[in-house]
Amino acid sequence: MFHQKNSLLRRYEGSLLTLAVADALGMATERLMERSSDQITDFQAGFLPAGCYTDDTEQARILAESLIRDSGLDLEKYALHIKQETRFKKGFGPSLRKFFFGNTDGHFVPSNGVGMKIAPLALFYRRQPNLLNDVVEAAAQITHRHPASVAGAIAIAHAVHYALTHNYMTFDRDECLERVVSQTGIYDEPLARKLATHDLRDNGGCSVYSTIPLAIHTFLDAPTELERGIIFLANSGGDTDTKAAMFGAVSGAFNGIDAIPRRWYAGLENGPKGRDYLLELAGKLYAKSN
Ligand SMILES: [Mg+2]
Repeated sequence: MFHQKNSLLRRYEGSLLTLAVADALGMATERLMERSSDQITDFQAGFLPAGCYTDDTEQARILAESLIRDSGLDLEKYALHIKQETRFKKGFGPSLRKFFFGNTDGHFVPSNGVGMKIAPLALFYRRQPNLLNDVVEAAAQITHRHPASVAGAIAIAHAVHYALTHNYMTFDRDECLERVVSQTGIYDEPLARKLATHDLRDNGGCSVYSTIPLAIHTFLDAPTELERGIIFLANSGGDTDTKAAMFGAVSGAFNGIDAIPRRWYAGLENGPKGRDYLLELAGKLYAKSN
């Protein structure tokens, strides 16, 4: 029993920490529209120093803190927490900018901004997957109202939940894809179709229609290949940090924290809100979800 619990905890830690290391690796290659001939396999400096995570992990961190503090999703408190906790030096997308400086609810553009941060909801609501769509949609609407932004987050949330609740023996690629596709299709049919047909054209793009299918299928094609998947995505062009981060949240939930290469674990930023703090958050999400 102890071993079982312990291994589940390591999946919570794996999901948050792999999200962070993948984000930090992809940070150096973000927005390079063409693949470099030299593959990145270790942390390098980009707009932040080597080993630092970006807004993807920052926003996941803020969501995790809210869920722990409020014992679930409390939208008003969560919105306030985003305003109080966001560090703009970590980077920000147009929707977050609008949330801070605009007057309307949620930006109406297809965006990766929800999918990149959504993993904590799948971790927190592990025992209540029937609530997952409602809480993902609600959390998304604060900043993102476009159906594809919500659908992308639904895809990642269900993939994380499936990965977390299956092991090497019970994992079924087709079953996982079917669940992701059917739930995504409730919100955005074109994205569901791209996922279902394994349509990975334009995989170097930044659109939610290319990032989500690529992140999900990189996991499904080789579920145990955490390191290789991150390196592939960090070198795939376009929104590399976000693609790698979304894949990392799923792969880490399946493979656990021990699958993170030592050099990445050791090199991840560990100042305020860094590695040890994220580990602590993962432990609290695990405790609250039981
Ligand atoms: Mg980013």
